Amino acid sequence: QSFNDLSLSNDIKRALKQLDYAEPTDVQAAVIPMVLAQKDVIVKSQTGSGKTASFGIPLCELVDWEENKPQALVLTPTRELAAQVKEDITNIGRFKRIKATAVYGKQPFARQKLELKQKTHVVVGTPGRVLDHIEKETLATEKVQYLIIDEADEMLNMGFIDQVSAIIEKLPEERVTMLFSATLPEDIESLCHRYMTNPKEIEI
Ligand code: AMP
Repeated sequence: QSFNDLSLSNDIKRALKQLDYAEPTDVQAAVIPMVLAQKDVIVKSQTGSGKTASFGIPLCELVDWEENKPQALVLTPTRELAAQVKEDITNIGRFKRIKATAVYGKQPFARQKLELKQKTHVVVGTPGRVLDHIEKETLATEKVQYLIIDEADEMLNMGFIDQVSAIIEKLPEERVTMLFSATLPEDIESLCHRYMTNPKEIEI
């Protein structure tokens, strides 16, 4: 399969070429069409499978550049992963001028608050700090149409699952939700059951 079969815009295809992504990985070939069709997905896959771009590519494709408030929220268990995802999305969205912002703990809240006041299409962050910004109303949620829960099993291991639920409760109900996890323990299954609509399970 080729990226040309996935009906992506030239801005995105140009960026993929620049990144030397010649063809989609298995997880990308499975996930990208589902997200472009606005379907909820549960993806069982390991890191290294190209999972970041499997949500990064359709997110960059789908967000409306004109909208100033965040349209996508990506939750990650660690600061390092948040920074990496932000960088990947920035690279994929380069020619569409997609703005991604990372918010995580142990970094000045005030600076993140200023960044969130600017136009930003995608916010990537760890659950505690994201919830903090939502509660202090420094992160607007009313335009969030895409939620990505990355490394959900790690969120569970690190004790973040209640914060993840609290965040989801603050988001518009009309949205596409994607959950990525290497394993699907019962607490993750029930989270999916509670907050997703007819999710399609993809195992790579
Ligand atoms: P991830 O599983 O998201 O951590 O990605 C693993 C690595 O694969 C990263 O270095 C990506 O830049 C790279 N990658 C992702 N998608 C592709 C692709 N379609 N072709 C080549 N490399 C890719």
